[in-house]
Order: sequence, then C-alpha cells, then structure tokens
Amino acid sequence: MPLATLSDVLQPALGEGRAVAGVVCLGWEDARAYTAAAEEVGVPVILQAGPGCRAHTPLPVLGAMFRSLAADADVPVVAHLDHGYEEAEARAAIDAGFTSVMFDGSKLPLAENIARTAAIAEMAHAAGVSCEGEIGFVGYAEGAESRGTDPEEAARFARETGVDAMAISVGNVHLQTDAGTGLDEGRIAAIEAVTDVPLVIHGGSGVPHAQRARLARGTAICKFNIGTELRQVFGTALRASLAEHPDRFDRVEILRAVEPPIRAACAKVLRSLG
Ligand SMILES: [Zn+2]
Repeated sequence: MPLATLSDVLQPALGEGRAVAGVVCLGWEDARAYTAAAEEVGVPVILQAGPGCRAHTPLPVLGAMFRSLAADADVPVVAHLDHGYEEAEARAAIDAGFTSVMFDGSKLPLAENIARTAAIAEMAHAAGVSCEGEIGFVGYAEGAESRGTDPEEAARFARETGVDAMAISVGNVHLQTDAGTGLDEGRIAAIEAVTDVPLVIHGGSGVPHAQRARLARGTAICKFNIGTELRQVFGTALRASLAEHPDRFDRVEILRAVEPPIRAACAKVLRSLG
C-alpha cells in the first residue's frame, strides 16, 4: 500500500467515527512492531518521529525507515514529524520523504503561531504533504503547565492556517504514566462546534482508556498520540527478557523478544479506537 498523508487517513476517520493512533517511534523494532499491529487489526497507523527520536537518529534515516515499512504494509501508513519547532525541520522532513509534518507553535503568541503555521502548511501542501498545528498548549507531567484551548481561537487558527489537523489542549498532558482525570468534554464539544478540522489529542496515554475509546467514536477527535503506555511495555518486556536470559548479548536477539509484547499492546490500542 502506498504511503499515506495525514489527511488521507484522518478524513475517512472523521466521516466514519473512529480515530487513528499516532504512535511514538524510537527505532526500527518499535516502528516495525506497530506497523505489524496495524496490519493485524486492519487499520491505518501514523508512525511519528518526535524530538527525542530525532536527537537519536537522523531524520533521513527515519524517513527511509518509515517509507520502507509503508511500502511493505497492506494498510495505509503515515510518516509523521511530531513537534517540529522550526521551519527548517519541516523542510528537512519533507525532503526526507515524510508525508505529514507537525509545526508546534503553541508556545508562541497567537498571531505568530498562526502566521508560522500557515507558512508551513502552505509549504507542506505544495509538496503534497499534510500539516498538523497546535492551538492552546498541552503541558508535560513534571513540566510546563497546560493552557486550555479557547474555542474561538481554535476556529480562527483552523481558518487562517489551513492545517489538516489541529492539536488541542482539553485536559490532556504529555508523558503521563497513569491515566489522568480525563478530558473536558464540554470544551471538546465547544471546539468541534466551530471548526470541521480533525482534532488531535497529544498525551493520549494519560486519557482514561474508556473515555478515549468513546471520544474516538463520538467526536471529531481523529488522532490520539500514544507514546508512554507503549514505551512502558517496551521497558517491562526488555527487563523481563534480560532477566530470563542473563547471558544474551546480541542486540538483535535481545530486541526480537520485545517485539511481540509491544505489537500486542499496540494492536489493543488500535482496536480500542474503532
Ligand atoms: Zn505532543
């Protein structure tokens, strides 16, 4: 199946009442396991390279890796740049074959966030690539506080930037290791009432899973970013494998044992989103 853009997978999800997982990838083994999970469930998947991943592995390597997985998959696979902070990063991702770029201007004043996001969306669209923006600010567990998305600002942001997907702050927090108190459904309803752009929830691992499944089906939230809960499965599986085989030293042998558990965990997430 050819590589897909973010729009290619989010517009059908919006119409059909489901959401697509944006899975945080840190290397070959997890990206391969998540693609296999998507094939097993028969749904699209968004492979995401975030700042931590890019600090570890050059963008052209990640682009080639995601494209190779997509080429061999029988479901749509999106190669997505997560949290780009500079125009140059978006440009480099497009050059590396990514089919979707997020520009995170959420820390900037509104007018500057709109202007810079609009310029990147225009550049992306000219290259046949999708663009995700963020309005409001999604905070971090043990870090910066969130600033909730204002519905009127969201409507203006969507209208003036031309983004294909809009990340919103409605009680979600990055890097939560346990399910939090839940999302503000009144605020989600107020946002989706004033825009028809597919909505994105970052920090999807921290959303109570029953609420996540319900919102995937019943709202314009079409993408949940999922990182922490899968990375936790990776760490647990890796420690178990090493404890069970203390004499193992080969990287391939060690990491092969981790793929089935993270694939199973990812398949469970994908099924839950409809
Ligand atoms: Zn994020």
